[in-house]
Amino acid sequence: MPLDRFGRNITYLRISLTDKCNLRCIYCMPEDMTFRPRKELLQDDEILRLVRIFASMGFYKFRLTGGEPTVRANIVDIVSGIAATPGVETIAMTTNGLMLPELAQPLADAGLSRVNVSIDTLNPEKFKKLTRWGDVEDVWQGLDAAKAAGLGIKLNAVVVRGYNDKEDVVDLARLTLFKPWQVRFIEMMPFGDVADFQQAGTVSEEELRTTIAAELGELSLVDNGRLDGEARLYKLPDSEGTIGFISSVTQPFCASCTRARLTADGRLRLCLLREQEVNLMEPLRSGADDEELTAIIKEAVFWKPWGHKLDEHVIPLNRVMSEIGG
Ligand code: SAM
Ligand code: SF4
Repeated sequence: MPLDRFGRNITYLRISLTDKCNLRCIYCMPEDMTFRPRKELLQDDEILRLVRIFASMGFYKFRLTGGEPTVRANIVDIVSGIAATPGVETIAMTTNGLMLPELAQPLADAGLSRVNVSIDTLNPEKFKKLTRWGDVEDVWQGLDAAKAAGLGIKLNAVVVRGYNDKEDVVDLARLTLFKPWQVRFIEMMPFGDVADFQQAGTVSEEELRTTIAAELGELSLVDNGRLDGEARLYKLPDSEGTIGFISSVTQPFCASCTRARLTADGRLRLCLLREQEVNLMEPLRSGADDEELTAIIKEAVFWKPWGHKLDEHVIPLNRVMSEIGG
């Protein structure tokens, strides 16, 4: 098992398949975002080789993200290649859901087990404003397709003050009364050149719980507050689903963090909120063998950071979220 110097078992790899996206969410990337040329991104065979190496080290949970993972060419083949890798137990995907009507079934057949679908509001005008041009109806169609394909479903909503921090949060939370889904509210985090906007707009978990409880009733803690992944779960009275809070800014979950991130350009990033990265692309393309790559990964994992430094105004500026893979 890959262990870091604090004794954490790092067994979960999130892979950003592309920095590109078919939306431009205001908290994620600028409208005029420039994307990396294709040759600078990990190629399919490079991804599968790295997955094989990570899995041989004890990583067993993999998540495909981005940018928007479903806009990557050969996405279905990438999923089936990962699924066929010895040691891989689960493959999940974080997606905006727009391509799921065509892709949910082929992805499920290829071995994908779950999708986390981003939907920040149910209100069509506000959805358009937050994503710059998205149509929320397309996300609903994606969710229907995911359900029909038998994929597990969770919803993700990033909350932005002044955009979707009031009735939108309540409407999303209300879904859990009649759907067996986990609806998770994510505290907005500051990155790259949209950091000022993000910092001003972050809404804390505490404030969100107060807003929801005032409209829908008291929230009761699930499982004594034990984290489900990165989310602390609550339930509304008589609800079918649960409400999760991912509060990386106000309540970091470093002690239980098991994850590492592989960026689309082949850097291993051990903490979302710290700039520190290790270049795997360079040794990969200059002929390193599996043992050499394993040693580089082991060393990187050992030095995985603990804690962000946002309260000391240390903000990761080297990348925006879509490049790291949220
Ligand atoms: N395109 C896919 C999607 O939107 O689900 C996957 C990539 S996206 C970068 C992954 C997750 O990061 C999404 O749930 C998105 O809402 C979230 N995200 C993006 N920017 C964020 C930020 N500044 N703070 C917190 N979460 C953010
Ligand atoms: Fe695209 Fe996801 Fe970023 Fe929105 S959050 S711009 S859908 S990568």
